[in-house]
Amino acid sequence: LEREEPNYFGAGPALLPTNVLQQAAKDLINFNGLGLGVGEISHRSKDGAGVVEQTSANLKKLLNIPDTHEVFFLQGGGTTGFSSIATNLTAAHAKKTGKIGKAGYVVTGTWSKKASEEAARLGVETEIVLDSKKVDGRFGTIPSVDKWSIPKDVSELSYLYYCDNETVNGVEFPEFPFEKFPGVEIVADMSSNFLSKKVDVSKYGLIFGGAQKNVGIAGISIYIIKKSLLDLPTVDELKKLGLPITPIAFDYPTVVKNNSAYNTIPTFTVHVVNLVLKNLIEKGGLEKQEVLNKVKAEILYNTLDKYPSVFKLPVDENVRSKMNVVFTIKDGSLDEEFLKGAADNKLTGLKGHRSVGGMRASIYNAVTLESVSLLVKYLDEFANAHK
Ligand code: PLP
Repeated sequence: LEREEPNYFGAGPALLPTNVLQQAAKDLINFNGLGLGVGEISHRSKDGAGVVEQTSANLKKLLNIPDTHEVFFLQGGGTTGFSSIATNLTAAHAKKTGKIGKAGYVVTGTWSKKASEEAARLGVETEIVLDSKKVDGRFGTIPSVDKWSIPKDVSELSYLYYCDNETVNGVEFPEFPFEKFPGVEIVADMSSNFLSKKVDVSKYGLIFGGAQKNVGIAGISIYIIKKSLLDLPTVDELKKLGLPITPIAFDYPTVVKNNSAYNTIPTFTVHVVNLVLKNLIEKGGLEKQEVLNKVKAEILYNTLDKYPSVFKLPVDENVRSKMNVVFTIKDGSLDEEFLKGAADNKLTGLKGHRSVGGMRASIYNAVTLESVSLLVKYLDEFANAHK
């Protein structure tokens, strides 16, 4: 169960620490000395349910999740969240206020745009509070909040959704302007920066993310929800209101009531999340990780900034992602040469998302400072050869 440490910068599924995967591989064969693998045991057995319980407990510990919030897991990824959030949270607002609100969306890149489109597709009325491409002509900025289209009465919003880190565009919120939306349930997609930094969970109605970047392998998504949002109208009431009904496997109260195992949960996949959490806790928690992530991002951006005639950074400096460093080679005809040279140096996964092209170095938690230093060395060499 050995491998040479990879210098892999792929955006997702992404790198995980080798020691975590080694333990996962062992547990896939023989878990807790049961003589059975963790993927073979019943999700309702003591050991199977224990995996979910321990993973929730470790997440609560690591993120300091208050008692007002609950943790649960859903099969699927970020996109499953786009749909299930729209129906569950619209219903929660209707139950609480007796009114059908509008779902507010802050669009700052590919993924928040997709999420808003999915809500509309499901018949939920949406209010685009910001579309940064419309304001500034491109994704790559977060316009100041005075340029947002905030409704006069924010209580019309059933929830307000934003993506904390836009993986494709390399845009990350330094902080969200919560103060502009008093009383509104804020929903954050943290698929690509979950557990990369400390977060004040109490400010959110819901935080969610697919596991396959910072937290595990593909197949499971993680939710942290304010408990008051689990009170939903009955199906008959929803029908009367003309609101969409959530498929049962994605109905949040049903999932929570059943310890995330209303239907068969992929126990192995959740177990990998648990191993990642334990590893983070052992290494000093999110404070330590946040400092390390800042250092990695800083040295990478500083290097790219040194060579403005070679590299272009399309994202405004104040909103540059600490997870997905997006850049282009000014002379686009050098793209292939850049990637080949990188591969020759065992630096892989650097090609940008197919929708935007260019390059992207994803430097999630598991990407070491050593890997980033090797990339920096290569960037220096490449730039000096092409200035
Ligand atoms: N949200 C963000 C921020 C993402 O980066 C991604 C995928 O990369 C998604 C949502 C969609 O996730 P999935 O492919 O798991 O549906």
